[in-house]
Amino acid sequence: MNSAFNVEEIFGQNVFTRAKMRERLPKNVYKEVVSVIENGGALSKESADVVANAMKNWAVEHGATHYTHWFQPLTGITAEKHDSFVTSADSDGHMITSFSGKELIKGEPDASSFPSGGLRATFEARGYTTWDITSPAFLKESGAGVTLCIPTAFCSYTGDALDKKTPLLRSMEAVNRQALRILRLFGNTSSSKVNVSVGPEQEYFLVDWDKSMKREDLIFTGRTLFGAMPPKGQEMEDHYFGVIRERVGEFMKDLNTELWKLGVPDKTQHNEVAPGQHELAPIYETANIAVDHNQIIMETMKRVAEHHHMRCLLHEKPFAGVNGSGKHDNWSLCTDDGINLLDPGDTPNKNVQFLFILSCILKAVDTHADLLRQSAADVGNDHRLGANEAPPAIISVFLGEQLEDVVRQLIETGVAKSSKRGGKLKTGVSTLPQFEKDATDRNRTSPFAFTGNKFEFRMVGSSDSMASSNTTLNTIVAEAFSEAADILEKAEDFDIAVHDLMKEYLTDHQRIIFNGDGYSDEWVEEAARRGLPNIKSTIEAADALTSKKSIELFGSFGVYTKTELESRKEIIFENYAKTINIEALTMIDMASKQIIPAVMKYAGSLARDVNEIRQAGADESALVDELREITGELTKMKRALDELKDGENRARKIRDERELAYFYKDVVRPAMDALREPADKLEMLVDKKDWPFPTYADLLFEG
Ligand code: ADP
Ligand code: MG
Repeated sequence: MNSAFNVEEIFGQNVFTRAKMRERLPKNVYKEVVSVIENGGALSKESADVVANAMKNWAVEHGATHYTHWFQPLTGITAEKHDSFVTSADSDGHMITSFSGKELIKGEPDASSFPSGGLRATFEARGYTTWDITSPAFLKESGAGVTLCIPTAFCSYTGDALDKKTPLLRSMEAVNRQALRILRLFGNTSSSKVNVSVGPEQEYFLVDWDKSMKREDLIFTGRTLFGAMPPKGQEMEDHYFGVIRERVGEFMKDLNTELWKLGVPDKTQHNEVAPGQHELAPIYETANIAVDHNQIIMETMKRVAEHHHMRCLLHEKPFAGVNGSGKHDNWSLCTDDGINLLDPGDTPNKNVQFLFILSCILKAVDTHADLLRQSAADVGNDHRLGANEAPPAIISVFLGEQLEDVVRQLIETGVAKSSKRGGKLKTGVSTLPQFEKDATDRNRTSPFAFTGNKFEFRMVGSSDSMASSNTTLNTIVAEAFSEAADILEKAEDFDIAVHDLMKEYLTDHQRIIFNGDGYSDEWVEEAARRGLPNIKSTIEAADALTSKKSIELFGSFGVYTKTELESRKEIIFENYAKTINIEALTMIDMASKQIIPAVMKYAGSLARDVNEIRQAGADESALVDELREITGELTKMKRALDELKDGENRARKIRDERELAYFYKDVVRPAMDALREPADKLEMLVDKKDWPFPTYADLLFEG
């Protein structure tokens, strides 16, 4: 047993927190920093030098030798380039370390090889990283030693955002400004800021390290490209919330410790639906910090898993036939004086401000369903959305019984007289406590569900950054608030105007509300009747980015310029083609060098057995049948392999990024499926000891 440790003591140990700044900075500098964090603006050069020096001293005391501007390029993961604090040796030969305000605030990675979607040609490679003072610096302990990481935004020489953080910060400012207008209209004079709160729930798989290293598909693509379902999948539902295995428990314990040290407030951990699948959820934080922390969570999961000789798979669909992984984006708006704008209270029918904000959000989600869908698109997520185990690719909003009833009253009569209540929970056991139930049950099949005092956007993929989904969400809601405020600020009678506008929004956008089973076929049909978009793939979703509506929306709130949107779209096409290309090449390699040779060898030995049995005068027909089945599948596999190779050759000739992406979707992916099918059948026919790599059963149940 490890000795107990004190969470309060280790929490934030590796973070340059406000408390540490208060301790280490002169009072006036500390005040300046806090003011910039809370109200924006820039630090003076002198103060920046003082902060940088204090930060460096603290980092060095904790063993840091290097610092890095930590940023989030359009790859969706993080990037870092390490510089040591070493500056020069003095005349005695002592090394002097230093870190200036300039180095803290601004970096210039030669970043021409990060995806920019044409925003920055390679010959004009300049890109700048700039300190995001609102997200605290932290120390990363890794094989490379201890590094001071400074969260930064990443822009081109011309000021275009080359990252995911900059637009997110812009969108937070936009929704703050517009939400404040609404609050003022409702008579709120006390709140000075509206923050976006985000709480991500992160799903992941763990598999044994050695076994994973025996599979090229896991090594190169993070998912299995071949693999037959084991006799037991997730149908017994015995894994979800089940007892956590020792090995996984030890991993979780270490993960928690590492994350707490980094100031990540992770709270909940449990087994997920699929065997080998788990989930971790931190407590919600301000959006940009939550997004940074989610990146830290993903990195730390991978690192700690390695220490436990396991591999953490963050891919959205590592295994066919069992549930994939997502990332639930819990989102709400809270004022700096603690008011959650999405809290309906006990009697939502009387809470006009809440109902009005709700109606604005419904309008936003309905108007921009295509953009919201796009914000959760990534290549891996295409295996998940709409695949009957994850939210469908159709955006709809679940409100729950209580709110749906209130909304119905408002639409029908213009007033909401009552709110349904939950009533007492009755278990029939007198010794169990009775309590008031929630007014609403949950709905796990909705992509965008109201869950008490927040919305839960469940479409985001497990490996994706949370930045895009929150950037879009913030901006579309900012627009709805802004349009409403434009009308209400001019209204003669505010109460009547609010009432009319709310009724109008709810009536016009009620088609987005859906409380039923989002996984059903009927819903797909019903949604089509309602005219809701059903965008099936990442590359089809990409077009939403550059529609007239999108350019106007993001442009008017200064979140993305037209050029920035176009660049993002181009990167989606590029990335899609690259990802499928790697998967296809990996399949070709595994099929031709591992599976086919193994099957041929097995078939050969079976053929020899057939001859021996025949010579011995016994009945060889069972073996012959088996051999025929195997060689039949082998022939199919060989043909499918040739098709896939042919597809790859044709792809090489396509120059246009968009055309190439569509070629990979429409030609190469079906060819991959066609190759997988006979291979998976063969796996069931060939002796297990002759199969060239670990199977699903090995990975999921013995990992
Ligand atoms: P569940 O969704 O399963 O009920 P929780 O209630 O624990 O789980 O919430 C899941 C996530 O939602 C957590 O990260 C939690 O901190 C976050 N969350 C809770 N309240 C809010 C809020 N007001 N805004 C944003 N996220 C929130
Ligand atoms: Mg949840």
